[in-house]
Amino acid sequence: MFQKILIANRGEIALRVLRACKELGIQTVVVHSTADSDAMHVRLADESVCIGPPPSRESYLNIHQIVAACEITGADAVHPGYGFLSENAKFADILAAHNITFIGPSGDHIRIMGDKIEAKRTAKRLGIPVVPGSDGAISDDKEARRVAAEIGYPVIIKASAGGGGRGMKVAHTEADLEVALQTAKSEAGAAFGDDAVYIEKYLEKPRHIEVQVFGDGAGRGVHFGERDCSLQRRHQKVWEEANSPALNAEERSRIGGICAKAIADLGYSGAGTIEFLYENGEFYFIEMNTRLQVEHPVTEAITGIDLVHEQIRVASGGGLSVRQEDIKFNGHAIECRINAEDPRTFTPSPGTITHFHTPGGLGIRVDSGVYSGYKIPPYYDSLIGKLIVHGRNRVECMMRLRRALDEFVVDGIKTTLPLFRDLVGNPDIANGDYDIHWLEKYLAKGE
Ligand code: ADP
Repeated sequence: MFQKILIANRGEIALRVLRACKELGIQTVVVHSTADSDAMHVRLADESVCIGPPPSRESYLNIHQIVAACEITGADAVHPGYGFLSENAKFADILAAHNITFIGPSGDHIRIMGDKIEAKRTAKRLGIPVVPGSDGAISDDKEARRVAAEIGYPVIIKASAGGGGRGMKVAHTEADLEVALQTAKSEAGAAFGDDAVYIEKYLEKPRHIEVQVFGDGAGRGVHFGERDCSLQRRHQKVWEEANSPALNAEERSRIGGICAKAIADLGYSGAGTIEFLYENGEFYFIEMNTRLQVEHPVTEAITGIDLVHEQIRVASGGGLSVRQEDIKFNGHAIECRINAEDPRTFTPSPGTITHFHTPGGLGIRVDSGVYSGYKIPPYYDSLIGKLIVHGRNRVECMMRLRRALDEFVVDGIKTTLPLFRDLVGNPDIANGDYDIHWLEKYLAKGE
């Protein structure tokens, strides 16, 4: 087991990882920018190292400084959290070259999944169902027209290097195709320095369903069920649930089994999430994230398993603590992402939190790095906390969520709490009847 882990992140996830380390009796080092000297993860860690000024590029993304911090403190492993360097293959390789363990998969696996064309090809080879589309990058208009005619309109053109929903264009007819292709290519070139694009069938009313997987790096793979993250704004998840209200136990075990086998065959190590669009009873792979996700606590709530403990165990060579048959799904869990944003316009609302009171009681978990008197710096993303609620079934979970949202107080800044208070009373949400476009339409109506 590791002696000392360096946590290369900030905010709620830095604290989340820190707690897991403390439970396992592992010493903790955190790194932070000058803007985060007062952050909770800095206060609670055994050691902290200031690695640079506020901009992420000079601090949380600064590989040299982070490696230096490992060397100075004698950390033997790094947990990257999510975002920042968590899916940076070069970072994983550099740590390996310094004999420091990256708590995550190999640089090669990160690289494959970071390239969408390569990821899709790999997924297909491993028996994961994919969206019908071009077999690799599209070279010209003629090929685009041929593929689109084959799979049928509407189609979506996506950047191979894409991320964050950028570089995607939908073409409803052949007349739109040429313009869509050119715009997608130039957007991708400008945003990612790589203009390779591919085509796939555009699904009109899918849900976003993702499967949590784990590999032990030695040919064993398990799945921890799925999460439904269909409630999204601008491709950003807002509310996540486990299990999905759309799946039954049989579908769960079928898609979970396919994913677990793929992970085993790949020889994958650590946590991963295989993301699908789900429509008319069919799953279509869109991408795989090779890290812990923001929404992992809903899976923890229904399985009772600490996924960060598992990541640390696997990375240290101790293997998984569970077999597939040990993983049981109990009840229902929902997570709301609370952002420091205006609940209508979603413009960021940094500033000082004058009062912070979190709900409590059975089935309530709040993961947050903020406190009364905390000043939110304007440099990073606006997530200030996650409310995770568990109940014996979805109805009980929703009742508890409504109560917890009423108790939650954040004064001094605007937050997205009022949005969740509206959503929890909405009949479509109560029925679990929503797809990936539902929230955008709801917000556009401005009810
Ligand atoms: P990114 O990495 O940029 O987030 P993804 O491939 O994960 O890109 O897709 C992001 C979102 O774009 C999906 O959650 C979905 O809303 C939409 N999308 C992607 N592919 C399709 C498709 N084939 N049909 C319909 N919507 C899609």
